[in-house]
Amino acid sequence: MPNGETPLPAFDLVIRNGTVATATDVFAADIGVKDGVVVALGQVLGAGAREIDATGRLVLPGGVDSHTHIDEPRGGPTVNADTFATGSASAAAGGTTTVIGFARQGRGEGVRQAVEEHLARAAKSRIDYSFHIILTDPNPAALAELPGLIAEGHRSLKIFLTYDGARITDGEALEVLAAGRRLGALTCIHAEHHELIAFHTKALVAAGLTLPKHHAWAKPMVVERECVHRVCAMAEALDAPIQVFHVSGGESAEEIERAQQRGLKVWGETCTQYLVFTADDLDRPDFEGAKFLCSPAPRSREDQAALWEMIRRGVIQNITSDHAPTRFDGPGGKTVFGRDAPFTKVPNGVPGLAVRMPVLFSEGVVKGRIDLPTFVNLTATHAAKLFGLHPRKGTIAVGSDADLVVWDPERRVTITHSLIQDGNDHTPYEGMEVTGWPEMTVVRGVPVMEAGRIVAPEGHGTFLPRAPYEMIKPRGIFPGFFNPVDGVAV
Ligand code: MN
Ligand code: MN
Repeated sequence: MPNGETPLPAFDLVIRNGTVATATDVFAADIGVKDGVVVALGQVLGAGAREIDATGRLVLPGGVDSHTHIDEPRGGPTVNADTFATGSASAAAGGTTTVIGFARQGRGEGVRQAVEEHLARAAKSRIDYSFHIILTDPNPAALAELPGLIAEGHRSLKIFLTYDGARITDGEALEVLAAGRRLGALTCIHAEHHELIAFHTKALVAAGLTLPKHHAWAKPMVVERECVHRVCAMAEALDAPIQVFHVSGGESAEEIERAQQRGLKVWGETCTQYLVFTADDLDRPDFEGAKFLCSPAPRSREDQAALWEMIRRGVIQNITSDHAPTRFDGPGGKTVFGRDAPFTKVPNGVPGLAVRMPVLFSEGVVKGRIDLPTFVNLTATHAAKLFGLHPRKGTIAVGSDADLVVWDPERRVTITHSLIQDGNDHTPYEGMEVTGWPEMTVVRGVPVMEAGRIVAPEGHGTFLPRAPYEMIKPRGIFPGFFNPVDGVAV
């Protein structure tokens, strides 16, 4: 360097003196970022145009939340409380840098049309995003649209086996599983026994038992356990990889474990709410219980313990928010039919994008149930791998996107709605005390949240197309003599 000239910084951003954690390792390192990518991990890095001192802090991969309903039209009188501008702000407030949402085909509608409409809505996102394609009407014309869409990177499908207006038959589900297997897409399933729920609900209404708490009475664990077993059998018969959404307790997780023990490519996720809420929360006074009304319903303390055990055993490796934001009092919210509405009229779902990582860190790492690498795996790495985003997302490595969270592991926070930064009017986690909170969230090298302030503009996020990947390749093993997907003997 000639005399008198100041060298240009080697990096756009350097995060120094932090403790870096991945799903496998915890180590002291500085992180050098250039052009949105991690280009150096080391202990004597040169200067950055911006330098962050992370002394006493953890530096984690940004969270990957693979189950979020942001700005997804709900239909009927229910209104989704978040646009992608607010939903992505809330995600960043809680340390999440990638979301996978849903492009939902309505009955009788085209699939590409749904995807293009959702891409337009997602253009406001401050963090990166991808979609699952919801098929509510997998007719031949809709299935014929899938090869093109999957090739464009929409590499996961979602189906419902319950909910009027969304559910498909088992026969239709088999067509979707077969299409996913052929085309290299993972099928995700909302698995509850529709007719059992309908039968319970009819009997509850006839008996005048329609408080929010009776939502849980309409769908006891057997409703979920039976359906999880059924979809595992369907996945086995077609050699089709699946992820079962929102495994809510021990009996369903046991079905997932049995499928895995048979070698099947069956994965299960659980959600933050099933680890901290129970059916008792649905019985809070003054209709507050409606804030906890989601499907499957929150269960028991014993189910929570069983889920933690299944997490410890590695049966469940993905924890999502299933962020489904409806306001409480606001338009189209939980009280849209009044504070004495029957549970059958209360919009389903809980918001939880911002609290997913803090609650799991506090309940998991701080309380000694899981270690730090397991936390990283549960909140980022596994979801990135399962949905074909790894190693671009979900880890801290040279060449990965600089999606980073500077995390204060000791900060004690009482959760209140103002911290959540979403479009909602409440959080069901109000008043919960947690230890550990994100201090800064960085997406591709650009700070999105700093000290609780959202600092990146709408539109900073980018769509993440997903290329074919190994993890969801079919095994090529069928339980019988015949491959029914391709119509050939095995
Ligand atoms: Mn669901
Ligand atoms: Mn959902």
